[in-house]
Amino acid sequence: MQNKNKIKQLVKNNCACYLGDKHGISNYCCWKDGSCEFFGQEEPLPHCGYFENGVLPTDDKLEREYKSERSMDVERKTAKPKVNCQKCGETFSANSNRQLYCEKCRKKNHNEKSKLRMQQMRKNRLDVTL
Ligand SMILES: [Zn+2]
Repeated sequence: MQNKNKIKQLVKNNCACYLGDKHGISNYCCWKDGSCEFFGQEEPLPHCGYFENGVLPTDDKLEREYKSERSMDVERKTAKPKVNCQKCGETFSANSNRQLYCEKCRKKNHNEKSKLRMQQMRKNRLDVTL
């Protein structure tokens, strides 16, 4: 396992269950009520549901490496919903379900909005100076 040290580091820094040395147990995990499995000598590393769901996603790159080494399904979580753009009708991968427009139209919308804002500002300024 290439990333064992990185995983241990992540557990130490981010796992809410990892309590260090406690109750005379080193690398105590309050979820397992025992030693954190990632600090054991087991190869390949054991699975930990808490870690995989709650800690690992904080490190995108490590998550991908970890899951591909274990031939876990990486796509499931990263798969983006396919949406049709409300403006041009093109299918695109949305980052969220609320996203209505494709990247192109979003930029265009943004530009139009800022253009409008600029026009409004100029008008207001004129109103003031007149
Ligand atoms: Zn579009």
